[in-house]
Amino acid sequence: MAFTLSSYPISYRAKYLRDQWKEEFLEKPHKTPEEEAALPPAEAAALSDSRNFYNDMPLVSYTTQYGLGCFEGVKALPQKDGGLAIFRPDKNAERFYNSMKGLFMPPFPRELFVKALVETVKRNAALGFKPRYKTEWEKDSFMNADSVYIRPFSYAEGGIGVNISSEPWVVVICTPVSAYFSEGKSGAVITERIRATPRGTGWIKADSNYVIAALAKHEAAEAGYMECVFLDAQEHRFVEEGSSCNIFFYLKSGVLVTPELGDTILPGITRLSLIELARDRGVEVSERKISIDEALSETRECFVSGTAAGATPIPSLSYRGKKTVFGDGKAGELTMELQKTLKGIQYGTLPDSKGWLTPVV
Ligand SMILES: *Cc1c(COP(=O)(O)O)cnc(C)c1O
Repeated sequence: MAFTLSSYPISYRAKYLRDQWKEEFLEKPHKTPEEEAALPPAEAAALSDSRNFYNDMPLVSYTTQYGLGCFEGVKALPQKDGGLAIFRPDKNAERFYNSMKGLFMPPFPRELFVKALVETVKRNAALGFKPRYKTEWEKDSFMNADSVYIRPFSYAEGGIGVNISSEPWVVVICTPVSAYFSEGKSGAVITERIRATPRGTGWIKADSNYVIAALAKHEAAEAGYMECVFLDAQEHRFVEEGSSCNIFFYLKSGVLVTPELGDTILPGITRLSLIELARDRGVEVSERKISIDEALSETRECFVSGTAAGATPIPSLSYRGKKTVFGDGKAGELTMELQKTLKGIQYGTLPDSKGWLTPVV
């Protein structure tokens, strides 16, 4: 399954018109999940593909022509006690609000955002479209566990001139997801490309940022790496982040360092959560600039963080043709502890003492 699109039947859509958001839920063609699972693969794929077409939305728009738009990535996780819960949707609501404002769109109200996510997941679950908790996931700390990936995004009105969007849609779709990074490849490589520039849109989860990320990630994969890592635009010296994840270096000195936020770094919610979990463990966390030289010589463990990735170990980092292996080249101890704690809270095997989960059912 990994990270491929297989849309659930029910989606949410809101349209901004005359100072108001007009909301609706759309139910696309489907059978029961059991019937769909029993279909020949090509037929099952055709059915889920058909759910990705919205024929009443404009083809030529500021989104399709110029990449004007923003999105979120949120997960709903099956709980050990049988329920289903969304991880920190209030934080995604806040970021989405800021993203839309940053793109000069009418910002989508935070309460509507959280309600839309809960209701979309709930309606799909009522049709049987939801993952079921499996005890076997506990064996490898949920590295291969299933969840519902929720993708809220903006979509601009029709138009051809370069322009901002004043009457966008907000759409929420769901798709099942398991492990994010494919097996086999594990190392990362520093890319020569620049993801984000000062006073640009790097801090926004903006559609347009991901073109360069996709190119760099493709080049990294062609060269045999799992992930690419970007350096800053001005000096090409400070580490910024991965293609769609934040990065952490656990230094030999015992300090966990992650690049400080600014206008070129995406404020990840996993990043925020892991900083808190690390501090809870008594680890000193520093949000600051870290040069590639320091990262390569002083690191004992490295990992990247994101909703899809969790905390994923980066056992080695290649730079200008030289590969540096961190520690013994295996997933580090702190990385695994943080991953275990995060996943434990998310899947309900550890108490949610911080109130990070919003129950759906
Ligand atoms: C989404 C994203 C992240 C991670 O954010 P989370 O909220 O943790 O999922 C980090 N960097 C970039 C560039 C991203 O797009």
